[in-house]
Amino acid sequence: MHIDLIIEQARIWTGDPNRPRAQRIGIWCGRVFGLDEQLEGVTAEVVVNAEGAFLAPGFNDVHAHSVWFGQTLLELDLAQAHSGEDLLARISEYAKNLPETSWVIGSNFNPLGIRGAMPDRDALDAAAGGRALWLKHSSGHAYTLNGVGLAEVGVAEFPTTEIDGGKIVTDAAGRATGLIEENAMSVVQSYHLPDSRSDIVRALGAATQQYLREGLTSITDAGVAGGWIGHSPQEFGAYQQAREAGALGTRMQPMITLDALHALSGHADDPVSFGLDAGLRTGLGDEWLQIGPVKVFTDGSLLGSTAAMTEDYEQCPGNHGYLLGDPAELRGKVLQAAAAGWSLALHAIGDRAVDFAIDTISQAQRACGKPAIPNRIEHGGVVREDQLPQLAAHGIALAPQPFFIPTFGDGMAAKLGEHRSGLSYPAASLLRHGAMLPGSSDRPVAPGAPLGVIQAFVERLTESGAPYGPSERITAEQALIAYTRGSAEATGWAERKGVLSPGMLADVVVLSDDVTAVSSERISQLEVLATLVGGEVRHGTIGGLGSR
Ligand SMILES: [Zn+2]
Repeated sequence: MHIDLIIEQARIWTGDPNRPRAQRIGIWCGRVFGLDEQLEGVTAEVVVNAEGAFLAPGFNDVHAHSVWFGQTLLELDLAQAHSGEDLLARISEYAKNLPETSWVIGSNFNPLGIRGAMPDRDALDAAAGGRALWLKHSSGHAYTLNGVGLAEVGVAEFPTTEIDGGKIVTDAAGRATGLIEENAMSVVQSYHLPDSRSDIVRALGAATQQYLREGLTSITDAGVAGGWIGHSPQEFGAYQQAREAGALGTRMQPMITLDALHALSGHADDPVSFGLDAGLRTGLGDEWLQIGPVKVFTDGSLLGSTAAMTEDYEQCPGNHGYLLGDPAELRGKVLQAAAAGWSLALHAIGDRAVDFAIDTISQAQRACGKPAIPNRIEHGGVVREDQLPQLAAHGIALAPQPFFIPTFGDGMAAKLGEHRSGLSYPAASLLRHGAMLPGSSDRPVAPGAPLGVIQAFVERLTESGAPYGPSERITAEQALIAYTRGSAEATGWAERKGVLSPGMLADVVVLSDDVTAVSSERISQLEVLATLVGGEVRHGTIGGLGSR
């Protein structure tokens, strides 16, 4: 037998409980051919010596926003702007190279990170050199515009319109400050959207190149083609275009936002159908690009105190958040989508939203059975003890984001208090109850490098170093399983990836050391030496073998 590639002298963590470790791996036609003694008498086109590097299945992030993230990579990065002066300097430096009529768009802007006074709209007008300015906050829940930008999108200097669930913020005199919150952000989005397919392709190219540098080989995009997180009604087509152009570096499973679905007519046997034209739905596609579940928002955010809780937020008597829209109407639509063959992914941060999600999903499963791609709950900002066995019993995948803890854990702890912080973004208790645990980041809402997220799974320390729900800590090996096999299971690919064993996709990350053996604070410092997707080196080098 003559195969494509053999990698020797590696420390291989397979993720396969029947054969957890190996030294040699053979790859043929994009798949794992065999390990160690399974390669006796087998030759290969290329044989490389890994010199003791650590190999694991490629990382799989089940909740990220790739177009949004890719755009942030192409825009002015303001993550490091720490004072008003510094912010203005970065804006004017960037703006001066742009055409006079083009927008100045900044990403990763965190107003809480600005020391002293935030520059006002007039100062931002001057810094942008008369151009319209749009700063996207890293929270994803607000924008800051300058005066030119406000005028461009049609916001009056002294606005009077009320926006349900959002705010065009004004000063004491009633003049718009430039801060635009929550639902009011649609004023800016509807001006800019839809993005062109070629812009989406460019963003996907930038995002997936970064993913490869971090060892990611599969991503589930948490909502495309509609709603405030979609970029164009043609967004899935743009993913196809990106793939054809060779710009899609990693495997992709975009969820379709509920807003993109509509009623469909059909045969009398199919009286109620709810979906995309031609009846396209979850599961269509292949190893590279596949339609994921339908993405549904059931509540808001934890830091915005809008996520639906059963108990009040700390120091906010009477406020326990709310479910979005009319829950009965929302449930009706979701059940119709399930009946039409869609897997469900319900955004639920508060425990009351988690109740709604569990009830809705279990109702759908009683009517339609369990789908091949599991039904999911996104986030789980608070998950009560009584909800954990229900998740396991119904086979619902919960996707928590542990890197929220080192990003905004102190703020979340203040909103939740100690008891509820202990129930927040659970991991250990999901495993204890036999429920699925995938790895995910919600990038670009929080940083998404998988090694950092794995470290956060292990440490659960806030940005100030305070423990946050320490009983939910898991081991580095459990976190590695989550980011590989757990994610494959939660996205319906357990038979094909997430484990390095014969027949599985040869998606491999090559690291400078063993994630399961180094001290926790070193995990995020490990180097990603190479990333292979389908047996092909797409980032870095291994034993002198590099990307083509
Ligand atoms: Zn998200």
